[in-house]
Amino acid sequence: MDETVDALVLKQVDYGEADLIVTVLTKEYGKMSFRARGARRMKSRNAGKILPCMKSQFRFDLREGKTMFILKGVNSLKTYPSLHGDLAKSAGGSLVAEVADAMSMGDPAIDSVVFSLVETAWDMVEEGKDIVSVICLFLCDVMRLHGIAPQVDGCVRCGCPKVVAISAREGGFLCDACSNLEPRNTFALRRFRMFVKGGLHYADKIMPIANGNLGDVETLAEMIHYHIGIKIKTLALFIRLFGVEKNA
Ligand SMILES: [Zn+2]
Repeated sequence: MDETVDALVLKQVDYGEADLIVTVLTKEYGKMSFRARGARRMKSRNAGKILPCMKSQFRFDLREGKTMFILKGVNSLKTYPSLHGDLAKSAGGSLVAEVADAMSMGDPAIDSVVFSLVETAWDMVEEGKDIVSVICLFLCDVMRLHGIAPQVDGCVRCGCPKVVAISAREGGFLCDACSNLEPRNTFALRRFRMFVKGGLHYADKIMPIANGNLGDVETLAEMIHYHIGIKIKTLALFIRLFGVEKNA
C-alpha cells in the first residue's frame, strides 16, 4: 500500500555507491528513515528535494519496511531558499534539525508537536526573524516537551523569589544565598524567564520586547547536555558565526 507523508528532512548520510539514507520527521509516524536509491548520481531528479532543512512529500510502501523504507517518490513542499543560501540562516536551520533529530522521542504524539516546532522555526528563520531568538524559543519548547524546562519561578534550591543567577547544572534560577555564579542583571533574568515561559507560540509578542542572546543559547544547550546528555554539535559553528556578527 502506497502511503505519502509530509516530511521535514533532518539529515542525510551516504549509503553504498550512490544511495542516501534520509532521516525525516513526520506528523503521522514520528522520525523515519528512507533509503533514496541513486540519489547521489548527477542526474537524480530527487536529490534537490531531500536535502536537510526542506519540507517534502515522501511516497513509500508502508508494508515494505519496519525501521527503514524505500523512497518511491518525492515532491517538494517548501525549499527554504534562504536556509540553503545564507550562512547564518543555514547554521540556525541546521541546529534546529540536529536538536529535533537528537531529541525526537519515538512517540508520535510528541514528535508531531516537535514537527510543528521545527516547521515554525524554519519558517521564521526563512522570513528573516532574529535567528538567535528563534533558536532560544525553539530550545525552550523542546526542553519543556522533555520535562526539563528551566525552573524560572524562584530559586531552584530554596524557592526564594529574589533570584540573581542562572545555573545550567541546577536547571534554573538561583538566589544570592544559593549561588556562587556570576550574577546576571534583572533584564537578563526577566528575558530568560520570558523565553522559557513563552516559547515559539508567543514569538510575535516576545521578540519586540527582547531579543534572545547568544549566552542564553549557550545556557540552554548546557542544560540539555547536563540533563539528558545530548551535546549539540552544530552549536560551535552557530556561536562562532553570531559571536563574530555581534563584535563586527
Ligand atoms: Zn536559593
